[in-house]
Amino acid sequence: MDLTAANHRIPLSDGNSIPIIGLGTYSEPKLTSKGSCKTSVKMAIDVGYRHIDGAYIYRNEDEVGEAIREKIAEGRVKREDIFYCGKLWATHFEPERVRPYLEKTLKTLQLDYVDLYIIEMPMALKALEACKDAGLVKSLGVSNFNRRQLELILNKPGLKYKPVSNQVECHPYFTQRKLLEFCQQHDIVIVAYSPLGTSRNPLWVNVSFPPLLKDELLNSLGEKYNKTAAQVALRFNIQRRIVVIPKSFNPKRIKENFQIFDFSLTEEEMKSIEALNKNVRLVDLLLWSDHPEYPFHDEY
Ligand code: NDP
Repeated sequence: MDLTAANHRIPLSDGNSIPIIGLGTYSEPKLTSKGSCKTSVKMAIDVGYRHIDGAYIYRNEDEVGEAIREKIAEGRVKREDIFYCGKLWATHFEPERVRPYLEKTLKTLQLDYVDLYIIEMPMALKALEACKDAGLVKSLGVSNFNRRQLELILNKPGLKYKPVSNQVECHPYFTQRKLLEFCQQHDIVIVAYSPLGTSRNPLWVNVSFPPLLKDELLNSLGEKYNKTAAQVALRFNIQRRIVVIPKSFNPKRIKENFQIFDFSLTEEEMKSIEALNKNVRLVDLLLWSDHPEYPFHDEY
């Protein structure tokens, strides 16, 4: 495959493109020291990451924006080299609340536009299309949508921009084979959140399974290639053309997670990793399971 550390963008259906690896930036605010997000984003840009995944609700978007702007000011990157994905939180779906919420993100980042803006349910689409027309967003996507919900949007009369991506949990214990197939048929890129199996915070993660990164197969393949289980897990996804957004605020691991372009897994190894699938979510959002649009009752 043609993906390299310097050149690893894949196309989106609207003519834009997305770097296949990004830095996740969610970190429990109470457990995270001020400034560590900014330092991590700056370091990630130095290492070669060009895609940052964030959200206003993560309460560190100001640090992400500062880091990006400082790297631009240093001449390290240009704005157009960076791909930033922001998120529309579920309490802001009314059309009149969409643009003001996006503008909050832009003001916090102190940037003129975001590259991708994603929502969880289809109600706000019209308002978002207007944000794209106004140049505040380059691409529109969704997150945690199941097949039925994607079809609802794709079949919406008068749809102007179809979603270019669907950000969902995806890793060797939850491989999303059917959703991936459906999305590929419709030119929707899957972005894998929690690609390393999450931070295992029991407040929002189902921790009844052993940690993904302790998996025997991932570790033995890691030994074969002189890589870690984390690098094997990330490589597995990018070989399936799935974008990964591992979160790390640790310098060593930020580097480690980016070093996935200098080896490749054989077809047989890919199949054996695929067979690790347990089909159980670590991020099950059970808190909202009685909501009529809770996405995870359906098979996929
Ligand atoms: P990840 O699977 O990325 O795992 C992050 C955890 O793994 C952290 O505790 C991190 O610690 C640790 N880690 C990172 N690299 C390594 C490594 N090489 N070896 C061992 N441990 C490692 O989980 P997330 O749930 O954070 O998902 C990634 C991103 O996806 C989020 O940050 C967020 O941006 C997005 N997301 C989106 C959701 C949505 O609903 N749309 C839901 C959940 C996440 P350390 O920092 O100390 O390295």
